[in-house]
Amino acid sequence: MARTDAMVLGAGIVGTSIALHLAKRGLKVALVDRRAPGEETSYGNAGVIEGNTLLPHPFPSGFGALLRVALKRATEANYHLSFLPQVAPWLLAYRANSTFERRLEFAELMRPLFSRALAEHETLLAEAGAERYLRKNGWLKLYRSEKAFAATARERELATKYGLPHSVLDTEDALALEPALTPTFARAVHWSGAASISNPLAVTAAYAARLSALGGSVLQGDARSLCRAGRQWALETDTGALEAEAVVLALGPWTPDVLGPLGLDLPLAVKRGYHRHFRPRGNASLARPVVDIELGYCVAPMEQGLRLTTGAEFAARDAPKTPEQLDRLMPQARKLFPLGAPVEAVPWMGCRPCFADSRPVRGRAQGHAGLWLACGHAHWGLMLGPVTGRLVADMITGATPFCDPTPYSAERFMQ
Ligand SMILES: Cc1cc2nc3c(=O)[nH]c(=O)nc-3n(C[C@H](O)[C@H](O)[C@H](O)COP(=O)(O)OP(=O)(O)OC[C@H]3O[C@@H](n4cnc5c(N)ncnc54)[C@H](O)[C@@H]3O)c2cc1C
Repeated sequence: MARTDAMVLGAGIVGTSIALHLAKRGLKVALVDRRAPGEETSYGNAGVIEGNTLLPHPFPSGFGALLRVALKRATEANYHLSFLPQVAPWLLAYRANSTFERRLEFAELMRPLFSRALAEHETLLAEAGAERYLRKNGWLKLYRSEKAFAATARERELATKYGLPHSVLDTEDALALEPALTPTFARAVHWSGAASISNPLAVTAAYAARLSALGGSVLQGDARSLCRAGRQWALETDTGALEAEAVVLALGPWTPDVLGPLGLDLPLAVKRGYHRHFRPRGNASLARPVVDIELGYCVAPMEQGLRLTTGAEFAARDAPKTPEQLDRLMPQARKLFPLGAPVEAVPWMGCRPCFADSRPVRGRAQGHAGLWLACGHAHWGLMLGPVTGRLVADMITGATPFCDPTPYSAERFMQ
């Protein structure tokens, strides 16, 4: 049986970044996935590395908003009726976390991570020779009505307090930044400190290649074969059995598949999301990701085409795709963006792994020596992968963590 210092299970952006940080500190690391690095959730996102994330997405407030979701008229959310009883406790907890005070608490607890996210990516992108995928020209949020713009005033006040650069634009100024948009919106905000990635899959693959260059192994195997072997953890891979004293579970939405058999239960849910690529109409293009705030979707320029990503769908992780949100929003999206023919025959679907307080879990798994958790990165996993990599590597190697990891501990669910 082959021995290694640490095994990281799950080669999404989170697991790959952790493995890379461990290898940079001289550990012998194996990164194991059933697929190639970055091919699941970390492939299909909107690519935004926000320099401005402060508040989590709130539960819809007000009777009108809830009714639109309930009647399946909302573009920003969808659900499977048969799944509601199962997800109801999680939704109630999410709602309890949606008061402004709780969202403010999230902003404070997550700031040490969000504020370092871009710098951590820049370091890894440079080391992996992948800087060409990074755009540092911000992102644009569009408001169709003055009312919707006014409703986000507190977020902008908070951004000013934290020193996050943003400019409020009228339609004309926004068109100067993105001439291909149709002026069907009233206001825009340009968050100039944000960055974005033009090919998230290629970035995770580049980080995995860097790991190999540093002597790490990138292997295929099924994480569900993980078991205890004395003081070690053992795993079957396609190239044979592997043992390590430390193992990190970075399986994104699949984390419960391995935790459950170990007797660990974390309240992780998924917000499913869809994307579809479109060829631009004529010579039109976008320079940066653009969000249609009221309708709750984003269009980001990717190497594969203009990628339209949807908001949340509450349904079982493995239930068949139901891209109704795309059907609902496409007529409006086509009026605003220069979207030509779709690139793929069917939309892609992925699952954002989320806890009800929107904070991830990073740290030890209680009662299982050598078992570490890194999951629940919700809407921000691409952005936070490298900063999570640093923090988890700090903890595993016994270095002083660059920030207090307590707010991200799994123990918050055990009280
Ligand atoms: C539509 C959409 C838009 C988004 N937009 C953004 C954005 O703009 N910015 C941002 O920062 N984030 C965004 N996100 C969120 C982000 O994509 C996720 O938070 C992130 O990809 C999670 O990464 P991960 O490594 O935890 O999970 P994953 O990328 O899903 O990685 C988990 C890995 O575990 C592997 N695995 C699972 N089961 C097993 C098993 N049994 N054995 C071996 N391997 C296994 C999988 O193959 C996979 O590679 C978006 C998500 C969606 C769905």
